[in-house]
Amino acid sequence: NHGYIEAVIGPMYSGKSEELIRRLKRAKIAKQNVVVFKPKIDDRYSKEDVVSHSGESIDAIPINKANEIYDYIDNKVQVVGIDEVQFFDEEVVSVAVDLANKGIRVIAAGLDMDFKGEPFGPTPKLLAIAEFVDKIQAVCSVCGQPATRSQRLINGEPARYNDPIIQVGAVESYEARCRKCHVVYK
Ligand code: ADP
Ligand code: ZN
Repeated sequence: NHGYIEAVIGPMYSGKSEELIRRLKRAKIAKQNVVVFKPKIDDRYSKEDVVSHSGESIDAIPINKANEIYDYIDNKVQVVGIDEVQFFDEEVVSVAVDLANKGIRVIAAGLDMDFKGEPFGPTPKLLAIAEFVDKIQAVCSVCGQPATRSQRLINGEPARYNDPIIQVGAVESYEARCRKCHVVYK
């Protein structure tokens, strides 16, 4: 019995966490042994849950590096969920491959593009080697068309290409936008 890799990707608010949680809960209902991981940097709502913007949640283990996953894997584990996969190091790809080879179903959710619209971290590689890829869309907050991009806003204005990640005193926010409404000032 071999495992396989499922990737769920898209912009912010597209329902990646929701979809990940849905798949993991179904696996649990079917009495599958499920373990869920998330990067420690994301403490959006709760330190030990994967939480969707719509309020669904599932227990997760926060880790710093992808290879810490091995600390929680024994021969009983059948399904591994990984949220916010774009924030992990490149090693998350080889870990996912290794787990799938061992017979585990690996479901990874994350951003395919950063706020600039460029491929984000290890996600592109993960897509290439996954058996199943679901690219999902949000609703463009400007025009209502399918949104494929994450718009970064600083004090309500589109962010610049080289804006630092954290700006003291600035209000940073994100919204989902389509290709036409997505703006990145050079
Ligand atoms: P992701 O993990 O992709 O950021 P979540 O699963 O956390 O997405 O949240 C998806 C939920 O976000 C939707 O079900 C909806 O309730 C909410 N939402 C907020 N803004 C939008 C938007 N612009 N388009 C679609 N859903 C949105
Ligand atoms: Zn739009």
